[in-house]
Amino acid sequence: MPQGPIEVADDVYWVGIRLPDDRFQCHTYLIRNGTESVLVDPGSILTVDAVLERVQQVQPLDSIAYLVCHHADPDVAGSLSVLADRLPRPDVQVVSEWRAAALLKHYGHPYRYWLVEEHDWAVPLGGDRRLEFQLTPYLHFPGAMVSYDTATHTLFSADLFGGFVPDNTVLESDDVEYILDAARPFHQHYMPSRELLTAGLTRIQQRWRDIERIAPQHGHVITSAAVNGAFEGLKSIDCGIFTLADADIDLQHLLHISEARTGITEALLTSADPIALVAALNRVLDDAEGNYRCALFIDVPDRGWTMWGWGGSRAALRPPPDHVPCVDIPGSPAAKLCLHAPDEADSDQELLTMLRSLAPTIRPVIDEYLEDHEQARRESDLRRAAFTDPLTGLDNRRALEERVPSGTYALIALDIDHFKAVNDSNGHAAGDSVLSQVAASISDAIRDNDVAYRIGGEEFLVVLPDADSHSARVVAERIRARVGALDLVGLSPTGRITMSAGVIAVTEAETTHFASMSSRADAALYTSKQAGRDRVTVAV
Ligand code: GH3
Ligand code: MG
Ligand code: MG
Repeated sequence: MPQGPIEVADDVYWVGIRLPDDRFQCHTYLIRNGTESVLVDPGSILTVDAVLERVQQVQPLDSIAYLVCHHADPDVAGSLSVLADRLPRPDVQVVSEWRAAALLKHYGHPYRYWLVEEHDWAVPLGGDRRLEFQLTPYLHFPGAMVSYDTATHTLFSADLFGGFVPDNTVLESDDVEYILDAARPFHQHYMPSRELLTAGLTRIQQRWRDIERIAPQHGHVITSAAVNGAFEGLKSIDCGIFTLADADIDLQHLLHISEARTGITEALLTSADPIALVAALNRVLDDAEGNYRCALFIDVPDRGWTMWGWGGSRAALRPPPDHVPCVDIPGSPAAKLCLHAPDEADSDQELLTMLRSLAPTIRPVIDEYLEDHEQARRESDLRRAAFTDPLTGLDNRRALEERVPSGTYALIALDIDHFKAVNDSNGHAAGDSVLSQVAASISDAIRDNDVAYRIGGEEFLVVLPDADSHSARVVAERIRARVGALDLVGLSPTGRITMSAGVIAVTEAETTHFASMSSRADAALYTSKQAGRDRVTVAV
């Protein structure tokens, strides 16, 4: 590093000093402006004497009227504690924003403040020349600011554009890659987030459209050709990633996780249901980490623990086992996002920490899914109710109309004999009880594929897919036998009931409508009634 001051623009001098074995070099700049000269970020106790020596090589110390402190860190302003002993003028003013000023007083200096917000964010330097200020909040101090010299179009950018200095012989550079390589790790470590960084940089660009050089407090002075490239390059740096870990760990690893976090946030915004969400999360994990998979477990109210993931399938399970690393998703019902490392690797604590921080944002996806699920359940309950006979639990006539049989099938029309007398002698409630028992007997007597309908008061119809008249007759006789065997002790007049049946078998070749088939079954049933009841008639 050169020993003397370096003029980086007309009357703007670098007057910094490099401390031995320190890649984190701190720069001070002097704006030579007669008796209203400005020292920009005067420096620390460690650097102040060398800095003032360099200032004196440009002009006497009593030319300095302003000490600009872009923020309050000791490497910027620690020298305030001794500057009153070094500078001859007592009317020097410390230029800062109120939040920095609140801390700067703790250096115990005697100077007055020039609070930028009270002076239209500028210090007049005579004629047209102004040193203008722009707040860059949280980068990396809440009241951090940068300044701009209107005469030389120099941006004094404080920590922004700062970098570690790999080679102390280089002060100025127009090599964007070189500048960014130095700036990247510094910004990753010190800046809170890419969003805030981009917002701050954009405000600077909008305020001053003709920046010709950037003079940061660390790193390299960026010359004209590299200014735009440096702005754009800085906006793409992932910052704030140390929120992902409690300890200062592998930067590359945290960057991977940070990338995953960005991807997951996007997946959360675009995924409408757990299947899409888990698929998107797993795509992100594939890209970011390789061997992790995740699954979502939800304790669905009417179904119990259900899992989404590991292939997109869903299955009812117990809650995830204890040894699986999981993140609880706050809220109710219980839900967990679980990680699965196929190679039995130790679970990645930083990844879990990141997922934990995102967990609350998963809840709305779950809530929406559960609402849809509940709505679908209510609709299916309603549909079931509309197609079910409430007394017997059998399907009703409307259900039969919804799924009229076709192809080869048989029908059994059934009617309870002398049921009016049962009602008349035992009351309607007893009649209802008989109807329920008859329905249960019919259900017990038919095969799995057959469906029994209650199509009227004490009239039933059984549809037997693929059955011929012989097998349908067997089923009808079984029903008749079971109903006849019902133990209805005390039921008047006879203590038992009987049923009549009519059977019809339909072959595929017959193109007749279902309604006429059903009438033929009724006709066969009528024949049974005519012939004395308690019997089965097969239509021919
Ligand atoms: P048949 O042997 O000729 O079929 O004589 P039946 O008395 O069974 O026939 P009918 O059609 O004359 O009478 C049917 C009776 O079924 C009339 C009605 O009181 C009774 N019934 C119809 N629906 C219900 C019901 O939901 N509950 C009760 N308890 N009785 C019903
Ligand atoms: Mg009857
Ligand atoms: Mg009847």
